[in-house]
Amino acid sequence: MTGIDDLPIRDELRGKSPYGAPQIDVPVRLNTNENPYPLPPALVARIAERVTEAARDLNRYPDRDAVQLRTELAAYLTRTAGHSVGMAGVWAANGSNEILQQLLQAFGGPGRTALGFEPSYSMHALIARGTGTGWLSGPRNDDFTIDLEAARRTIAERKPDVVFICSPNNPTGTAVDAGTVLALYEAAQAAKGGPGALVIIDEAYGEFSHRPSLLPLIEGRPNLVLSRTMSKAFGAAGLRLGYLAADPAVVDAVQLVRLPYHLSAVTQATALAALEHTDTLLGYVEQLKAERDRLVSELRAIGCAVTESDANFVQFGRFDDAHATWQALLDHGVLVRDNGVPGWLRVTAGTPAENDAFLDAVRAVTKENKQ
Ligand SMILES: *Cc1c(COP(=O)(O)O)cnc(C)c1O
Repeated sequence: MTGIDDLPIRDELRGKSPYGAPQIDVPVRLNTNENPYPLPPALVARIAERVTEAARDLNRYPDRDAVQLRTELAAYLTRTAGHSVGMAGVWAANGSNEILQQLLQAFGGPGRTALGFEPSYSMHALIARGTGTGWLSGPRNDDFTIDLEAARRTIAERKPDVVFICSPNNPTGTAVDAGTVLALYEAAQAAKGGPGALVIIDEAYGEFSHRPSLLPLIEGRPNLVLSRTMSKAFGAAGLRLGYLAADPAVVDAVQLVRLPYHLSAVTQATALAALEHTDTLLGYVEQLKAERDRLVSELRAIGCAVTESDANFVQFGRFDDAHATWQALLDHGVLVRDNGVPGWLRVTAGTPAENDAFLDAVRAVTKENKQ
Protein backbone atom coordinates (compact mmCIF):
# COMPACT_ATOMS: atom_id res chain seq x y z
CA MET A 1 0.00 0.00 0.00
CA THR A 2 1.24 3.47 -0.82
CA GLY A 3 1.74 5.70 2.23
CA ILE A 4 2.07 9.49 2.37
CA ASP A 5 5.80 9.17 2.89
CA ASP A 6 6.16 7.25 -0.41
CA LEU A 7 4.91 10.36 -2.23
CA PRO A 8 7.15 13.25 -3.28
CA ILE A 9 5.70 15.27 -0.38
CA ARG A 10 7.48 18.28 1.22
CA ASP A 11 10.08 17.12 3.75
CA GLU A 12 8.55 19.05 6.65
CA LEU A 13 5.24 17.16 6.18
CA ARG A 14 6.80 13.69 6.32
CA GLY A 15 5.71 11.60 9.32
CA LYS A 16 3.22 14.26 10.49
CA SER A 17 -0.46 13.75 11.39
CA PRO A 18 -3.37 16.06 10.49
CA TYR A 19 -5.39 18.10 13.00
CA GLY A 20 -7.92 15.70 14.42
CA ALA A 21 -10.26 16.03 17.33
CA PRO A 22 -11.87 12.56 17.41
CA GLN A 23 -15.42 12.66 15.97
CA ILE A 24 -16.91 9.84 18.07
CA ASP A 25 -20.65 9.22 18.17
CA VAL A 26 -21.54 9.28 21.89
CA PRO A 27 -24.56 10.75 23.74
CA VAL A 28 -22.70 13.77 25.19
CA ARG A 29 -20.10 15.45 22.96
CA LEU A 30 -18.27 18.24 24.75
CA ASN A 31 -14.93 18.11 22.94
CA THR A 32 -14.74 20.74 20.20
CA ASN A 33 -16.02 23.93 21.86
CA GLU A 34 -19.08 24.05 19.63
CA ASN A 35 -22.17 25.92 20.74
CA PRO A 36 -24.72 23.25 21.83
CA TYR A 37 -27.73 25.28 20.76
CA PRO A 38 -28.97 24.71 17.20
CA LEU A 39 -29.83 27.90 15.32
CA PRO A 40 -33.35 29.16 16.21
CA PRO A 41 -36.09 28.24 13.67
CA ALA A 42 -36.65 31.88 12.65
CA LEU A 43 -32.98 32.16 11.69
CA VAL A 44 -33.04 28.84 9.83
CA ALA A 45 -36.01 30.17 7.82
CA ARG A 46 -34.20 33.45 7.12
CA ILE A 47 -31.11 31.55 5.94
CA ALA A 48 -33.32 29.59 3.52
CA GLU A 49 -34.72 32.88 2.19
CA ARG A 50 -31.37 34.55 1.71
CA VAL A 51 -29.78 31.45 0.21
CA THR A 52 -32.71 31.12 -2.22
CA GLU A 53 -32.06 34.69 -3.29
CA ALA A 54 -28.35 33.98 -3.70
CA ALA A 55 -29.11 30.78 -5.64
CA ARG A 56 -30.71 32.80 -8.43
CA ASP A 57 -27.27 34.26 -9.18
CA LEU A 58 -25.14 31.16 -8.70
CA ASN A 59 -24.21 31.18 -12.39
CA ARG A 60 -22.12 34.24 -11.47
CA TYR A 61 -19.06 34.42 -9.22
CA PRO A 62 -19.81 35.86 -5.77
CA ASP A 63 -18.87 39.38 -4.62
CA ARG A 64 -15.10 38.87 -4.45
CA ASP A 65 -14.72 41.55 -1.81
CA ALA A 66 -17.75 40.48 0.28
CA VAL A 67 -18.55 44.15 0.82
CA GLN A 68 -22.02 43.77 2.35
CA LEU A 69 -20.86 41.05 4.74
CA ARG A 70 -17.78 43.00 5.81
CA THR A 71 -19.96 46.07 6.39
CA GLU A 72 -22.27 44.08 8.68
CA LEU A 73 -19.33 42.46 10.52
CA ALA A 74 -17.83 45.91 11.07
CA ALA A 75 -21.17 47.13 12.44
CA TYR A 76 -21.33 44.11 14.78
CA LEU A 77 -17.83 44.79 16.13
CA THR A 78 -18.55 48.50 16.49
CA ARG A 79 -21.70 47.71 18.47
CA THR A 80 -20.28 44.96 20.72
CA ALA A 81 -16.49 45.21 20.93
CA GLY A 82 -15.91 48.74 22.21
CA HIS A 83 -14.30 50.28 19.14
CA SER A 84 -15.57 51.71 15.89
CA VAL A 85 -14.29 49.91 12.78
CA GLY A 86 -15.22 50.33 9.12
CA MET A 87 -15.62 47.86 6.27
CA ALA A 88 -12.13 48.63 4.94
CA GLY A 89 -10.60 47.37 8.20
CA VAL A 90 -12.51 44.07 8.21
CA TRP A 91 -11.84 40.95 6.13
CA ALA A 92 -13.76 37.64 6.05
CA ALA A 93 -12.83 34.08 5.07
CA ASN A 94 -13.89 30.44 5.43
CA GLY A 95 -13.39 30.14 9.17
CA SER A 96 -10.81 32.03 11.19
CA ASN A 97 -8.44 29.20 10.29
CA GLU A 98 -8.43 30.54 6.74
CA ILE A 99 -7.96 34.07 8.09
CA LEU A 100 -4.88 32.86 10.00
CA GLN A 101 -3.62 30.99 6.95
CA GLN A 102 -3.95 34.07 4.76
CA LEU A 103 -2.12 36.14 7.38
CA LEU A 104 0.76 33.65 7.48
CA GLN A 105 0.85 33.45 3.69
CA ALA A 106 1.27 37.21 3.58
CA PHE A 107 3.40 37.82 6.70
CA GLY A 108 5.07 34.44 7.37
CA GLY A 109 6.40 31.90 4.89
CA PRO A 110 9.80 30.32 4.17
CA GLY A 111 12.67 31.96 6.04
CA ARG A 112 10.28 33.57 8.53
CA THR A 113 9.12 32.49 11.99
CA ALA A 114 5.97 32.67 14.11
CA LEU A 115 5.88 32.54 17.92
CA GLY A 116 3.03 31.20 20.06
CA PHE A 117 2.71 30.62 23.80
CA GLU A 118 1.94 26.96 24.44
CA PRO A 119 -0.20 25.15 25.34
CA SER A 120 -2.40 27.02 22.89
CA TYR A 121 -4.53 26.42 19.81
CA SER A 122 -2.70 23.67 17.93
CA MET A 123 -3.76 25.07 14.54
CA HIS A 124 -1.43 28.05 14.95
CA ALA A 125 1.59 25.74 14.70
CA LEU A 126 -0.04 23.59 12.02
CA ILE A 127 -0.88 26.59 9.81
CA ALA A 128 2.68 27.82 10.31
CA ARG A 129 3.96 24.46 9.10
CA GLY A 130 1.57 24.41 6.14
CA THR A 131 2.76 27.83 5.02
CA GLY A 132 6.45 27.00 5.47
CA THR A 133 6.73 29.37 8.44
CA GLY A 134 9.15 28.33 11.21
CA TRP A 135 7.46 27.73 14.59
CA LEU A 136 8.72 28.97 17.96
CA SER A 137 7.09 27.76 21.16
CA GLY A 138 7.03 30.41 23.91
CA PRO A 139 6.61 29.82 27.64
CA ARG A 140 3.68 30.11 30.05
CA ASN A 141 3.57 30.28 33.84
CA ASP A 142 2.25 27.37 35.95
CA ASP A 143 -1.19 29.05 36.02
CA PHE A 144 -1.06 29.20 32.18
CA THR A 145 -0.76 32.99 32.01
CA ILE A 146 1.96 34.25 29.64
CA ASP A 147 5.38 34.55 31.32
CA LEU A 148 6.05 38.11 30.16
CA GLU A 149 9.71 38.30 31.13
CA ALA A 150 10.52 34.99 29.43
CA ALA A 151 8.44 36.04 26.43
CA ARG A 152 10.36 39.30 26.11
CA ARG A 153 13.66 37.37 26.17
CA THR A 154 12.43 34.89 23.52
CA ILE A 155 11.23 37.75 21.30
CA ALA A 156 14.51 39.67 21.67
CA GLU A 157 16.59 36.58 20.87
CA ARG A 158 14.52 34.96 18.13
CA LYS A 159 12.99 38.08 16.50
CA PRO A 160 9.78 36.40 15.26
CA ASP A 161 8.01 37.84 12.21
CA VAL A 162 4.59 36.90 13.61
CA VAL A 163 3.41 36.58 17.24
CA PHE A 164 0.19 34.75 18.17
CA ILE A 165 -1.68 35.80 21.31
CA CYS A 166 -4.73 33.64 21.93
CA SER A 167 -7.16 35.37 24.30
CA PRO A 168 -9.13 33.71 25.78
CA ASN A 169 -6.60 30.94 25.22
CA ASN A 170 -7.60 27.53 23.96
CA PRO A 171 -7.29 25.00 25.67
CA THR A 172 -6.69 26.71 29.03
CA GLY A 173 -9.45 29.39 28.97
CA THR A 174 -6.95 32.02 30.12
CA ALA A 175 -7.58 35.64 29.06
CA VAL A 176 -4.64 37.96 28.35
CA ASP A 177 -4.84 41.48 29.76
CA ALA A 178 -4.35 44.52 27.53
CA GLY A 179 -1.10 45.49 29.28
CA THR A 180 0.52 42.16 28.42
CA VAL A 181 -0.62 42.42 24.79
CA LEU A 182 0.87 45.90 24.51
CA ALA A 183 4.14 44.81 26.13
CA LEU A 184 4.43 41.90 23.68
CA TYR A 185 3.55 44.16 20.76
CA GLU A 186 6.24 46.69 21.72
CA ALA A 187 8.81 43.94 22.28
CA ALA A 188 8.06 42.37 18.89
CA GLN A 189 8.36 45.72 17.07
CA ALA A 190 11.62 46.61 18.87
CA ALA A 191 13.20 43.20 18.21
CA LYS A 192 12.41 43.23 14.52
CA GLY A 193 13.09 46.85 13.65
CA GLY A 194 12.09 48.14 10.19
CA PRO A 195 8.39 47.64 9.53
CA GLY A 196 8.22 45.44 12.64
CA ALA A 197 6.39 42.17 13.33
CA LEU A 198 2.73 41.19 12.93
CA VAL A 199 0.94 40.44 16.21
CA ILE A 200 -2.25 38.38 15.87
CA ILE A 201 -4.78 38.31 18.70
CA ASP A 202 -6.92 35.19 18.22
CA GLU A 203 -10.16 36.17 19.96
CA ALA A 204 -12.25 33.19 18.81
CA TYR A 205 -13.87 33.10 22.28
CA GLY A 206 -14.06 36.86 22.82
CA GLU A 207 -17.82 36.95 23.31
CA PHE A 208 -17.58 34.54 26.27
CA SER A 209 -15.00 36.56 28.19
CA HIS A 210 -15.48 38.40 31.50
CA ARG A 211 -13.27 41.09 29.99
CA PRO A 212 -13.91 43.55 27.16
CA SER A 213 -12.60 42.76 23.68
CA LEU A 214 -9.00 43.69 22.87
CA LEU A 215 -10.25 45.28 19.63
CA PRO A 216 -9.61 48.92 20.74
CA LEU A 217 -5.87 48.15 20.84
CA ILE A 218 -5.68 48.07 17.01
CA GLU A 219 -6.09 51.86 16.96
CA GLY A 220 -2.78 53.38 15.84
CA ARG A 221 -1.10 49.95 15.70
CA PRO A 222 -1.03 48.82 12.06
CA ASN A 223 0.82 45.59 12.94
CA LEU A 224 -1.88 44.39 15.35
CA VAL A 225 -4.65 42.14 14.02
CA LEU A 226 -7.72 40.80 15.80
CA SER A 227 -9.12 37.49 14.55
CA ARG A 228 -12.71 36.40 15.28
CA THR A 229 -15.08 33.63 14.23
CA MET A 230 -18.78 32.83 13.92
CA SER A 231 -18.00 29.19 14.86
CA LYS A 232 -18.36 29.58 18.62
CA ALA A 233 -20.51 32.47 19.91
CA PHE A 234 -22.74 32.52 16.82
CA GLY A 235 -23.29 28.76 17.02
CA ALA A 236 -22.35 28.43 13.37
CA ALA A 237 -19.31 26.13 13.23
CA GLY A 238 -20.80 24.45 10.16
CA LEU A 239 -20.99 27.77 8.32
CA ARG A 240 -17.20 28.32 8.17
CA LEU A 241 -16.99 32.07 8.66
CA GLY A 242 -14.10 33.86 10.31
CA TYR A 243 -13.04 37.49 10.11
CA LEU A 244 -10.34 39.92 11.13
CA ALA A 245 -10.23 43.56 12.14
CA ALA A 246 -7.07 45.59 11.60
CA ASP A 247 -5.64 48.58 9.82
CA PRO A 248 -7.03 48.62 6.24
CA ALA A 249 -3.46 48.08 4.99
CA VAL A 250 -3.54 44.56 6.52
CA VAL A 251 -6.74 43.87 4.57
CA ASP A 252 -4.98 45.03 1.39
CA ALA A 253 -2.07 42.71 2.21
CA VAL A 254 -4.18 39.55 2.60
CA GLN A 255 -5.84 40.30 -0.73
CA LEU A 256 -2.44 39.55 -2.32
CA VAL A 257 -2.69 35.89 -1.23
CA ARG A 258 -6.41 35.11 -0.96
CA LEU A 259 -7.89 32.94 -3.71
CA PRO A 260 -10.27 34.93 -5.91
CA TYR A 261 -13.93 34.35 -4.96
CA HIS A 262 -12.84 32.38 -1.86
CA LEU A 263 -16.09 33.13 0.00
CA SER A 264 -19.06 31.52 -1.76
CA ALA A 265 -22.30 33.43 -2.35
CA VAL A 266 -24.07 30.81 -0.20
CA THR A 267 -21.66 31.43 2.69
CA GLN A 268 -22.04 35.20 2.41
CA ALA A 269 -25.86 34.94 2.33
CA THR A 270 -25.92 32.60 5.34
CA ALA A 271 -23.57 34.76 7.40
CA LEU A 272 -25.64 37.87 6.62
CA ALA A 273 -28.78 36.07 7.79
CA ALA A 274 -27.05 35.04 11.04
CA LEU A 275 -25.93 38.62 11.66
CA GLU A 276 -29.58 39.73 11.48
CA HIS A 277 -30.21 37.50 14.54
CA THR A 278 -27.22 38.62 16.60
CA ASP A 279 -29.28 39.52 19.68
CA THR A 280 -30.89 36.07 19.94
CA LEU A 281 -27.54 34.35 19.44
CA LEU A 282 -25.82 36.53 22.05
CA GLY A 283 -28.63 35.50 24.42
CA TYR A 284 -27.39 31.91 24.12
CA VAL A 285 -23.89 33.17 24.88
CA GLU A 286 -25.14 34.54 28.21
CA GLN A 287 -26.64 31.13 29.08
CA LEU A 288 -23.38 29.40 28.15
CA LYS A 289 -21.35 31.80 30.29
CA ALA A 290 -23.55 30.94 33.27
CA GLU A 291 -23.13 27.22 32.54
CA ARG A 292 -19.36 27.71 32.20
CA ASP A 293 -19.26 29.36 35.63
CA ARG A 294 -21.38 26.52 37.05
CA LEU A 295 -18.96 23.92 35.62
CA VAL A 296 -16.06 25.76 37.30
CA SER A 297 -17.69 25.80 40.73
CA GLU A 298 -19.09 22.26 40.59
CA LEU A 299 -15.80 20.79 39.37
CA ARG A 300 -14.06 22.54 42.26
CA ALA A 301 -16.67 21.15 44.66
CA ILE A 302 -15.89 17.65 43.34
CA GLY A 303 -12.23 18.31 44.15
CA CYS A 304 -10.85 18.98 40.67
CA ALA A 305 -8.34 21.71 39.92
CA VAL A 306 -9.79 24.19 37.43
CA THR A 307 -8.07 26.90 35.39
CA GLU A 308 -9.88 30.28 35.41
CA SER A 309 -11.94 30.36 32.22
CA ASP A 310 -13.01 33.26 30.00
CA ALA A 311 -14.21 30.92 27.25
CA ASN A 312 -17.05 28.46 26.61
CA PHE A 313 -14.93 25.60 27.97
CA VAL A 314 -13.11 24.68 31.15
CA GLN A 315 -9.70 23.07 31.67
CA PHE A 316 -9.82 20.67 34.61
CA GLY A 317 -7.41 18.24 36.32
CA ARG A 318 -5.12 17.29 37.66
CA PHE A 319 -4.95 13.64 36.72
CA ASP A 320 -1.98 11.28 37.04
CA ASP A 321 -3.03 9.90 33.67
CA ALA A 322 -5.24 12.39 31.84
CA HIS A 323 -5.74 10.07 28.90
CA ALA A 324 -7.01 7.26 31.16
CA THR A 325 -9.51 9.70 32.70
CA TRP A 326 -10.52 10.82 29.19
CA GLN A 327 -11.22 7.15 28.32
CA ALA A 328 -13.11 6.57 31.58
CA LEU A 329 -15.37 9.57 30.89
CA LEU A 330 -15.92 8.25 27.36
CA ASP A 331 -16.93 4.89 28.85
CA HIS A 332 -19.61 6.87 30.74
CA GLY A 333 -20.84 8.30 27.43
CA VAL A 334 -19.16 11.70 27.71
CA LEU A 335 -16.59 12.88 25.17
CA VAL A 336 -14.23 15.61 26.39
CA ARG A 337 -10.89 16.72 24.92
CA ASP A 338 -7.43 15.50 25.73
CA ASN A 339 -5.23 18.26 24.28
CA GLY A 340 -2.07 16.54 25.44
CA VAL A 341 -1.51 19.00 28.30
CA PRO A 342 -0.07 16.69 30.98
CA GLY A 343 -2.55 16.26 33.85
CA TRP A 344 -5.38 18.26 32.28
CA LEU A 345 -8.51 17.75 30.18
CA ARG A 346 -10.89 20.26 28.58
CA VAL A 347 -14.68 20.22 28.61
CA THR A 348 -16.92 22.44 26.48
CA ALA A 349 -19.91 24.04 28.21
CA GLY A 350 -22.98 22.30 26.76
CA THR A 351 -26.67 22.48 27.58
CA PRO A 352 -27.55 22.23 31.30
CA ALA A 353 -28.53 18.56 30.78
CA GLU A 354 -25.24 17.75 29.00
CA ASN A 355 -23.25 19.47 31.73
CA ASP A 356 -25.14 17.51 34.41
CA ALA A 357 -24.31 14.28 32.56
CA PHE A 358 -20.66 15.34 32.40
CA LEU A 359 -20.53 16.24 36.11
CA ASP A 360 -22.17 12.91 37.03
CA ALA A 361 -19.55 11.10 34.93
CA VAL A 362 -16.71 12.99 36.65
CA ARG A 363 -18.16 12.09 40.07
CA ALA A 364 -18.43 8.42 39.05
CA VAL A 365 -14.91 8.29 37.60
CA THR A 366 -13.39 10.03 40.63
CA LYS A 367 -15.12 7.53 42.92
CA GLU A 368 -13.88 4.55 40.80
CA ASN A 369 -10.34 5.89 41.04
CA LYS A 370 -10.51 6.09 44.83
CA GLN A 371 -11.64 2.45 45.18
C1 LIG B 1 -12.27 27.22 17.37
C2 LIG B 1 -11.14 28.15 17.23
C3 LIG B 1 -10.99 28.90 16.08
C4 LIG B 1 -12.07 28.83 15.07
O1 LIG B 1 -11.74 28.33 13.88
P1 LIG B 1 -12.80 28.46 12.72
O2 LIG B 1 -11.95 28.14 11.55
O3 LIG B 1 -13.28 29.88 12.72
O4 LIG B 1 -13.89 27.49 12.98
C5 LIG B 1 -9.96 29.80 15.98
N1 LIG B 1 -9.09 29.96 17.00
C6 LIG B 1 -9.22 29.27 18.14
C7 LIG B 1 -8.30 29.53 19.26
C8 LIG B 1 -10.23 28.32 18.27
O5 LIG B 1 -10.32 27.60 19.39
